[in-house]
Amino acid sequence: MASMVSSQKYINLKDRESERMSISKEADQPMEGSLMGELDDREAGPSVGGVDHARIERAVREILWAVGENPDREGLVETPARVARMYAEVFSGLHEDPRPHLQKFFTESYDDIVLVRDISFNSFCEHHLCPFGGKAHIGYVPSGKVVGLSKLARVVEIVARRPQVQERMTETVANLLEDELDARGVAVVIEATHTCMTLRGVRKPGSLCVTSSMKGLFRQNASSRAEIMSLIYTNRR
Ligand SMILES: [Zn+2]
Repeated sequence: MASMVSSQKYINLKDRESERMSISKEADQPMEGSLMGELDDREAGPSVGGVDHARIERAVREILWAVGENPDREGLVETPARVARMYAEVFSGLHEDPRPHLQKFFTESYDDIVLVRDISFNSFCEHHLCPFGGKAHIGYVPSGKVVGLSKLARVVEIVARRPQVQERMTETVANLLEDELDARGVAVVIEATHTCMTLRGVRKPGSLCVTSSMKGLFRQNASSRAEIMSLIYTNRR
């Protein structure tokens, strides 16, 4: 009797073992009807402006099921499509090159600081897909090439519409200006509030994250750096 029980146990364990093996084997291939299968590249639907709306909709439905909601109830039926349109909009910067905005410049002999302060923006942190937003300040010292001020705001907007971290956003904007304008100096300062810090986790509302990227003379020269920082931070409304 005892031996039968133990052999039965052995068989059960063996069955489970082979079940595990077959699961891990199948995991490499998309499983029909599962999210893994649906999210496989080969299942990609038609994309609008580089964004596959149907795929986002399927994923949002899965999230709603996963948190214990019913995506088919009245208030949620349209939600996956709405979220897909929202993501297409807030991540449109992934499919847009900001460079052309900096390639229409004017030749001017002005060679002092140009600063555009308080350019508001909204972006998404790539760690939580939570919004973060605030203000960007962009300064540069031209060496013959001057761009329309609104172009600087356009560059911030395009770069902001990508999943990212604030540090990289700051660096990306500064590099674009340095590369395209042959500027003698570039200063980018970004101040933002991150909802992944205010809504969840440590929950610290009001905390502000400040990042800066200094290029050329703003990096080399302490008095130039002090000058741009005082232009950014003095007489603020
Ligand atoms: Zn985050």
